[in-house]
Amino acid sequence: MGLKGTTAVITGASSGIGEATARLLAAEGARVALGARRIERLETLRSEIESTGGEALVRTTDVTRREDVEALVAATLDAWGQVDALVNNAGIMPLSFIRNLHVEEWERMVDVNIKGVLYGVAAVLPDMRRRGAGHILNVSSVAGRRVFPTGAVYCGTKFAVSAISEGLRGELTASDGIRVTSIEPGAVATELPHSITDPEVAEASSEYADMRMLDADDIARAILYAMSQPDHVDVAQVLVMPTAET
Ligand code: NDP
Repeated sequence: MGLKGTTAVITGASSGIGEATARLLAAEGARVALGARRIERLETLRSEIESTGGEALVRTTDVTRREDVEALVAATLDAWGQVDALVNNAGIMPLSFIRNLHVEEWERMVDVNIKGVLYGVAAVLPDMRRRGAGHILNVSSVAGRRVFPTGAVYCGTKFAVSAISEGLRGELTASDGIRVTSIEPGAVATELPHSITDPEVAEASSEYADMRMLDADDIARAILYAMSQPDHVDVAQVLVMPTAET
């Protein structure tokens, strides 16, 4: 119960890494505010957390809408008075070859993966700076370090998330008291590939077919590790790879 009395906002909490993180942080005693578009999934998760003695609130949140992200944070402040941690996790990965011109998917990735993260930062920063405390954890990716075919735009968005994390961390001063962490997973078994529509991608990703990927819980534990450090320790980057991923 190392996080008892703290409050965490998690975007993209309706599945995968966000859902696993919500469960783990709640089990560690944090009150969790959960945002995503599929509210029924969030309600189910809230019931589960409450049935095991945890505290959760849920709110329909489309991170491409700044007002939704602000409302999620405002609801958290109303309920619990502060946001100790923001896990900026919502993301999509409709991989495609550039030559196939999935322009609308490129736009969507920029909106969700980059602008959604920035809206989260904007929503929590004023309160965190006022209190001189807080932790922003942005879920980037190994794709924020390396570019692979079909991933030009996705990797571009994750390079941006890593750059935003590093840039923000560099701007904050000791008196701000705010930590920033870039979480960078390798392949995790989640619903993330469901947004892929380019038929050529399956062929290009066949290396993953038989690979033992990470579980969402593996990344939740990395997030908990960063959050559990003493205040003077900012775990700036956490790269977590499946042992089998080259
Ligand atoms: P999932 O598809 O399981 O989860 C994605 C989450 O993002 C869902 O809860 C989804 O909820 C939410 N989401 C998508 N679009 C929006 C939106 N517009 N507004 C609010 N929420 C949204 O995938 P993962 O758990 O794998 O992905 C989580 C993060 O981890 C992403 O940022 C991804 O890029 C990153 N990542 C994943 C890796 C992997 O291999 N799986 C590797 C490296 C990084 P809903 O649809 O209900 O809105």
